[in-house]
Order: sequence, then structure tokens, then C-alpha cells
Amino acid sequence: MSNPEPKESARLFERATELIPGGVNSPVRAFNSVGGTPRFMVSGEGCRLTDADGATYVDLVSSWGPMILGHAHPAVVEAVRSAASQGLSFGTPTPGEIDLAAEIVDRTPVEQVRLVNSGTEATMSAIRLARGITGRTVIVKFSGCYHGHVDALLADAGSGIATLGLPTSPGVTGAQAADTVVLPYNDLDAVRQVFEQRGADIACVITEAAAGNMGVVPPVEGFNAGLRDLCHAHGALLVIDEVMTGFRASRQGWFGCDGVAGDLYTFGKVMSGGLPAAAFGGSAEHMSYLAPAGPVYQAGTLAGNPVAVAAGLTTLRHADDAAYATLQSHADRVGALVTAALEREGVAHTLQYAGTMFSPFFTDTPVTGYAGAKAAETWRYPAFFHAMLDHGVYLPPSAFEGWFVSTALDDEAFERIETGLAAAARAAA
Ligand code: PLP
Repeated sequence: MSNPEPKESARLFERATELIPGGVNSPVRAFNSVGGTPRFMVSGEGCRLTDADGATYVDLVSSWGPMILGHAHPAVVEAVRSAASQGLSFGTPTPGEIDLAAEIVDRTPVEQVRLVNSGTEATMSAIRLARGITGRTVIVKFSGCYHGHVDALLADAGSGIATLGLPTSPGVTGAQAADTVVLPYNDLDAVRQVFEQRGADIACVITEAAAGNMGVVPPVEGFNAGLRDLCHAHGALLVIDEVMTGFRASRQGWFGCDGVAGDLYTFGKVMSGGLPAAAFGGSAEHMSYLAPAGPVYQAGTLAGNPVAVAAGLTTLRHADDAAYATLQSHADRVGALVTAALEREGVAHTLQYAGTMFSPFFTDTPVTGYAGAKAAETWRYPAFFHAMLDHGVYLPPSAFEGWFVSTALDDEAFERIETGLAAAARAAA
């Protein structure tokens, strides 16, 4: 099978470019690093997306993680419809947000959460809280980790920043950057050294629970635990960003994989079922620093939006142990197909997993940090990506992103993936 020319997507992209910078509302969607016409999707059902030209794609992006149950899951759609019919936003507390908070608290080490609208807001708020609690200014982050487009966290970040090859962003002031120390991921010695030199100034270390924004790079054995120990030895907080891994890597997120508890957590994506909601949390004591109980200010007109809460809660309630077993088997099966296809063509590669998240790197050296991710033969990816697209499989349009399966993949989808991979491996060779 081969998809038709994306004529309508091309027309829409041209029009979008007149009205929206770069034609997109989030940079990686523009296909900058893979070239070609971004597909304008008009609907999704189960594991498939349909674009404006009527072409269908097996979706291995899942809206960058949230759609673990697939698109338009009947129970989630019904919950959204029912919540919407009761009113869209009240700007008051609602009963549903208690249930969503309880579901998050039940699965993770946090005792309390505050709901926000995006992962970016969650990490921004978590570092403000860490600074408020400790009375310190410096934050430590890792190269290749992405925590949303928070000014202080854009330095040497992954995701779109990696895709576009940017070191940071104009618009971030020197002062904001000066309070951010950027260290190599998975290098505990570097963290130890910085704590020795500046320990009394460090408010927090923020790390992706398992890095997924430079491709998937899990923490090496002992890294997250080492961060926790160093933070605690120096009176700093460990902020674990589970926006991507949360309720995706496992039922309990990456915490379910390595059992290392941080002090503050950020969540997003899966917990909102595809609508805009996210959260940050920690112990009741740490969270008591937040207004109105405490002095650290944070707020949101649409925070805890009842429709988003209904989507998130219903998604999490359907994401039971059986769903995670399915998700893992789907991730393993797609990974095995990738390996088989690339091996057949003699293309050097390494497949890296963090629970049910994974990505291939075009190198036979295991990737442990951003330098390794950038040193892989990423020039092979555009041809690989486009062969998959032509065969009706939608991959992330960047070599620096994870692949996200859903529980909804079916036999036809696996057949399509296998056929696509044979062509993609040939194209990448
Ligand atoms: N943190 C991580 C680990 C992410 O992967 C992302 C987004 O991909 C964010 C934070 C930012 O989330 P959002 O795009 O909802 O602002």
C-alpha cells in the first residue's frame, strides 16, 4: 500500500503558514528535520489517524504520548460528552478533580497534586516551589532533557530544541540562564562536583524520570537514586519530571520501573487523556508552601477544567494492569520488527526502552546521553520516516523523539508496520 500525494495537506500548510508561524502550533509538527509536507489530520479512531487527503496512518506518536488507549476511545469520548453537557468551566472546585488527584496519588509517591494546563506549567511551577521551599536560586538540569518551554529550562534541551539544533532560545535572559546549571545526563560525578562547588545555592535538580526527548535514554543503574542522595545530602530537592513517562512507562510511570522517589513530581500527557491538563505534586508538607495555604503563588483560570479532568480520569481508570501488559507487548513487538528490518539491511542500530516507551538510534553504541544521541547517524532518519509515512505509518517527525504505541494496535496495524519497516530499512541503508 502507498498513500496518495498529500495535496490537501499541502494546500492547508500553505494557508496555515500565512496565519501561524511556520504553519504549526508546536515546532516539530512542521517536519523541519525530515522535510516534506506535514499531514493535517482530521480524525482518529483506535490506532489510526486519517488526514485531510483521506489517507490513513497507523499512529506510533499517540499525540506525543497521551493516547495510550488509542483515539476516540468510546468510554473517554462518552465521559467528555457527559462532562461537557454539564458545563465547560466553572472556575470553582469540582468533585471530579478530587477523583483525578486521588488516582494520581494512588499510583505515585506524591501525597498531594495541583492541577495545571500543560507540562510546561507543571515544571515551571515545580521549580518555583522548589526555590520557594529552599530559599535558593540555582537549578540543575541535564543536556537533552526537555521540560517544556520554561525559560530557565530551555538550555541544551531535547525535543524540538534538539530537532532544530538550537543551544537555547533568544528571549531567555542571561540572568535566567545564569541560575541554570546544565550537566551531562547520566553523569553522577558531574552532579557531585557541582554540589561540592555550589551546593548551598542549589534549590533543585530536575530530571526526566527516564529521558525521552533525545530519543529514549533511560537512567543508568543508580543515577536517579544518586541524584536523590546528593540532593538530600545538600538540602536540595529532586524534581522528577514524569510528564512523558507518567502512566505510560508503567502503571506507576517510571517510578514503577525503578522505585526511586523524588521530592516533587510533574505529570501530564496520559493523565489528561488528550485534553489540556497536567499536574505537579509532592509531600503534603512541601505542597503546603503553595498559595493559598503558603506563600508560593501559582494559579490558573482553567486549572482542573472539568472536561479535561473527565478525559484524564476515564483514561486512567481504563489503564489497568491488563492495559499496561498489552502496551508493553505492543512496544516489544514493534521493537522486534524494527530490529528485524534493520538487521536484514545491515543498518547499525540500538533500540532503547523505558518501560513501554522506546526509540531506535542509528548507531550500535548504546546511547547514555545527549552527545551519544547526536553522534548517531540521524541523517538516515528522514528517508526512514518518509518510507513509513508512504506505507501508512505515522512516526515522530524527528530522530530525537520516542515512539508511543497504544493498546489499540491490531493485526492489520502490525502488518502495515512490518511492510513499512521493510521499505524504511531499505531507504535508510
Ligand atoms: N516535560 C517533559 C518530560 C515533556 O516530555 C514535555 C513535553 O513533551 C513537557 C515537560 C512539556 O509538556 P507540554 O508540552 O504539555 O507543555
